[in-house]
Amino acid sequence: MTEVNDDAELEAFRAEARAWLEANFPPSQKGRPTELQYSGSPPQGDALLWKQRMAEKGWGVPTWPKEYGGGGLSARAARGLQEEMARIGASNPIYISLGVTMVGPTVLDYGTHEQKLRHLPPIARGEIVWCLGYSEPGAGSDLASLQTRALDKGDHWEISGQKVWTSGANHADWCGVLVRTDPAARKHEGISFIMTDMRQPGVEARPIEMIGGASSFCEVFFSEARAAKDDLLGPLNGGWTVGKRLLQHERASQTGDPVSARQPDPLQDVAKRYVELDEQGRIADADLRTRLTRQLMHEKAHALTIARAHAESRGNASPSNAVSMLKASSTLIAQTRAELTVEMMGSSGLGWAGDGFSRDEIVTVRGWLGGKAISIAGGSYEVQHNIIAKRILNLPDAASTS
Ligand SMILES: Cc1cc2nc3c(=O)[nH]c(=O)nc-3n(C[C@H](O)[C@H](O)[C@H](O)COP(=O)(O)OP(=O)(O)OC[C@H]3O[C@@H](n4cnc5c(N)ncnc54)[C@H](O)[C@@H]3O)c2cc1C
Repeated sequence: MTEVNDDAELEAFRAEARAWLEANFPPSQKGRPTELQYSGSPPQGDALLWKQRMAEKGWGVPTWPKEYGGGGLSARAARGLQEEMARIGASNPIYISLGVTMVGPTVLDYGTHEQKLRHLPPIARGEIVWCLGYSEPGAGSDLASLQTRALDKGDHWEISGQKVWTSGANHADWCGVLVRTDPAARKHEGISFIMTDMRQPGVEARPIEMIGGASSFCEVFFSEARAAKDDLLGPLNGGWTVGKRLLQHERASQTGDPVSARQPDPLQDVAKRYVELDEQGRIADADLRTRLTRQLMHEKAHALTIARAHAESRGNASPSNAVSMLKASSTLIAQTRAELTVEMMGSSGLGWAGDGFSRDEIVTVRGWLGGKAISIAGGSYEVQHNIIAKRILNLPDAASTS
């Protein structure tokens, strides 16, 4: 592993990273965000070249061990790499996939050596698309009520049931499915996590259209679908613990890390474009000015809190329950920013389609609508507050106080 023990070593690593990026990052990709891996539009041309080079280097998953396709960097070195990439406007072309942010880290935590060798390198190269089958029509926040069942057929698992809101299922090759393997056990204790091939006759994914116009998630029907016995991740009937661990990795990826290649326009610049200014160049509407200032202060505080969490965690890259705090605050900040932006845009903030609006205006409006989902996905805003109350503040259960 590439460790950096002090500032001098970090600077030496950053110089090495700068030189590699200089030689390998195609300038045409500057400022270009990475497409969601399950968007159905695979990268072409320079975007593909950039992805291949990063995959070969292992820097798409910089902290994973080299033997599983990663870069073998310590958390601190990876942070240095991320900052060097942000400096030149380079996005991580492997990053935006559930495989990288959730499934891979959980396989690293719970997988056998053979499972890691089989599943991690294709994720690290961005070749395999994963989805997650947790939620069901009768099991969302109360996930442990899930009913999809896996029967032990001796040489394989047989899976039947329905999942819902499964992001990217229509493009996925594999799914991490939470299933009931012991219906007689208490509900948290009869669940297992099975890695399931999506490309088989017993699996059907039906896309659901979202308010923002995209169709990024699906209903998924499993009808006697098959999974290999050794695609059980973690212990049999221990899937609740494995599944919760994966959700911590998911929430850690949703904390709104400020270091990214493409930052949205600063709100004050949006204001200057769309709203009336007074003779001193300030936003004329004093109430809007106050709310905007408050938002900018929250954004700054959030960014500093993340920077502090990174500094404090140093070598330890594992997420804890504290990610619920950062997920809740980043959700609130992103949604408030979107509300303020469309408010400042006035009638230009009503554009859904058509020549009367610029492309940026349409993207902003759709992003504002689509962004409503972020306080639900990965566990709702209210459920994050329950976790903070129970697991961080050690407050008693609401039920036990009545
Ligand atoms: C964009 C998006 C992508 C998603 N992707 C996936 C995916 O890939 N795979 C997957 O399995 N799922 C996915 N989900 C589903 C997501 O995990 C669930 O929607 C979420 O857990 C909430 O469950 P629910 O929709 O059944 O709502 P419910 O659990 O029915 O909740 C309804 C409301 O009640 C509140 N509530 C419920 N219980 C409590 C409580 N105990 N205390 C306080 N308030 C409570 C909730 O906060 C919410 O406001 C996705 C959702 C979205 C929006």
